[in-house]
Amino acid sequence: MADVTQRLEIVTPEKKAFSDEISILIAPGVEGELGILPRHAALITPLKIGLLKFDHNGERIIMTISGGFMEVRDSRITILATAVERLEEIDVARAEAAKQRAEERLTAKTPDIDVIRAELALKRAINRLKSKQQI
Ligand code: ATP
Repeated sequence: MADVTQRLEIVTPEKKAFSDEISILIAPGVEGELGILPRHAALITPLKIGLLKFDHNGERIIMTISGGFMEVRDSRITILATAVERLEEIDVARAEAAKQRAEERLTAKTPDIDVIRAELALKRAINRLKSKQQI
């Protein structure tokens, strides 16, 4: 069964981030982690901020994802993501600065602050920083 694969396409507004055959995929569904093997039943689900993990040519690839949608059909997975990064692409200083900005906004609580926006920015930054500790 090890040679059975499925197609994974990851697309963001900026780029096609990945397109190839893979074996298992683990994705952060809004209701919990989803493990997708070839010949999985059809499904469409929103994804939350978290990690995408998949096996590609025997190598485990981990990417951060900032939310999106996933469709699985006929051993083909399509992920439309707000943003994804491979771990080696993550700029730690940038994520730390984003985290600090978001925390300051949430602490200041001035009336013009969009709290949900700041909370999401904080989650994205923490996700990027935590992912670097997984190497
Ligand atoms: P920032 O405030 O630093 O822009 P953000 O969470 O608002 O952070 P996004 O809107 O999620 O950024 O992403 C915009 C683009 O920048 C995407 O292409 C994303 O992959 C990239 N990006 C964001 N933060 C980082 C980072 N720390 N390292 C590498 N790429 C990043």
